[in-house]
Amino acid sequence: MALIRAVRGMKDILPPESGRWQWVEQVAREVFALYGYREMRLPLLERTELFARSIGADTDIVAKEMYTFTDRRGDSLTLRPEATAQVVRAFLENHLEKGAGVKKYFLIGPMFRYERPQKGRYRQFHQINCEALGSDAPELDAEVILLLWDLLSRLGLKTLTLLINSLGCPACQVEFRDKLKAFLFSREGWCPDCLRRREVNPLRVLDCKSQRCRELMQQAPLLRDCLCQACRRHYARTLELLSRFGVEVVEQPRLVRGLDYYTRTAFEVTATGLGAQDAVAGGGRYNGLVRDLGGPDMPGIGFAIGEDRLMEILPAEAVREEERGIFLAALGPAAREKGLDLVQEWRRQGLVAQMDYEDRSLKAQMSLADRLGAKWVVILGDRELAGGQAVLRDMDTGSQESVPLGELNIVLKHKSAIKEGN
Ligand code: AMP
Repeated sequence: MALIRAVRGMKDILPPESGRWQWVEQVAREVFALYGYREMRLPLLERTELFARSIGADTDIVAKEMYTFTDRRGDSLTLRPEATAQVVRAFLENHLEKGAGVKKYFLIGPMFRYERPQKGRYRQFHQINCEALGSDAPELDAEVILLLWDLLSRLGLKTLTLLINSLGCPACQVEFRDKLKAFLFSREGWCPDCLRRREVNPLRVLDCKSQRCRELMQQAPLLRDCLCQACRRHYARTLELLSRFGVEVVEQPRLVRGLDYYTRTAFEVTATGLGAQDAVAGGGRYNGLVRDLGGPDMPGIGFAIGEDRLMEILPAEAVREEERGIFLAALGPAAREKGLDLVQEWRRQGLVAQMDYEDRSLKAQMSLADRLGAKWVVILGDRELAGGQAVLRDMDTGSQESVPLGELNIVLKHKSAIKEGN
């Protein structure tokens, strides 16, 4: 029968690759804890309206990329294309806005966008998201970016660039939009999408991927020339704090990021070695979003790391070795029976242990142990068993010793502890 294949643009993450993912997520959890961020685990499906209202109808995501369907009741549902809108939805629905202080969350999981699959771009991809709600202080902008930088550094990533810009507040954006619109109408040669965008949402022309539109935009007015006093001060303070804590940034006056809800600080991290899809992370402030989703006037800021792209630039040596463990090679029915007890006992004691359940030769079991990467093999034959002994083999050195069965636990625990350096 013909094999059924995975959906285009969606990939399987298999061992040993999945071990790298676990490690990255573990480091992320540790860093989030240091900064006081706690986890939200949210559904993959949301009402379509949530994204249409927050991300913006003219963005590529909402206009072209959402996995939207009607369920059996006739409700329009969408597989989440990003996390911020749903974090805010959950925040408001569960009344988390009550009480003082900044509310800090992280979320790790898959996102879905119907984009053209290519290297570094998938239809199901994975993000590590960070969201902080309840303060407009530039110290919080700096904290979120420092957290991101801290995390990327702990993962051993070095060839990264942090691009930053300020998109201003709604008042600055009104002024900018007018200037930009005038510019867009003063030039010819825009793509059909941008011809529409210049009417309805001129800022989105800045995300256009067409070469011609990008060239034309080189002459476009800059947002930073429209920033009000308060936005200038906010941006300057954010930059000052980042410099104080050693984060080098590159100011990128045309960075807007492809979603409507961003205000003030916007940033992106790019990496060399990723080709065209070189953005590893992106984020920014979204001071109007909570209100747009029916909540109070509450500022927020966050970022998303693209985990799939991160994996491609992760240095091999940065990954923690998986524990190699013990393989029990049993020969004969009595030894196999005893083996079941021993292996289960080792696992209870926290040792990684496996055995083979088929009646294979010693040679076959040794090659299996090798393939599984075992550090130790315990060889147990019916004869050894009768004598109350087992042979313990170190797979790295090939040295063997005879150990009384009653002492195996202690010897193995001791040796594993030495190996881990405890
Ligand atoms: P965004 O939500 O568009 O700001 O994206 C944040 C990060 O998610 C990007 O910097 C990418 O690293 C990653 N990302 C976005 N879209 C995709 C995709 N289709 N495939 C893989 N990674 C993606």
